[in-house]
Amino acid sequence: MSLHGDYDPQNIFAQIIRGEAPCYKLYEDDDVLAFLDLFPQSHGHTLVIPKRAAARTILDIDADSLCKLMRVTQRLTQALVDELQPEGVQVAQFNGAPAGQTVFHIHMHIVPRFAGQGLAVHASSKADPLELEKLQARLLQRLGG
Ligand code: 5GP
Repeated sequence: MSLHGDYDPQNIFAQIIRGEAPCYKLYEDDDVLAFLDLFPQSHGHTLVIPKRAAARTILDIDADSLCKLMRVTQRLTQALVDELQPEGVQVAQFNGAPAGQTVFHIHMHIVPRFAGQGLAVHASSKADPLELEKLQARLLQRLGG
């Protein structure tokens, strides 16, 4: 059911794109925005979203926007791996509630995975804002350098 439906312009990521809701931004260009997940599955959990495509899932997005999204996803994955040195990294994308999707604006998850920490799929708690600020500063330096 939730795989199909109308795009809701009030979803939280649309609000973030319009600047109506805050985020810990890591990267932005004309087409793509990346920011830290507020309920991280691991240290460095990052979300990458298209800014112009009003797409709920991978079934709705045009190929050009998807390519731009993936280009930035790859670049940020490299920066996260370089900076945080995880033993693994998940790059994931969910479509429809039964597949785990909770926000219906298409997004890529980049989840650094550290040995011995398990594979949480949805975090239960909100990240400490101070920790997110520190991590943001660290990653912005990495991306700028
Ligand atoms: P999904 O389950 O739809 O694939 O992923 C949605 C992600 O968005 C989750 O990892 C969740 O923690 C994250 N999230 C939900 N609300 C917010 C928010 O207001 N700000 C940020 N930065 N992340 C959010």
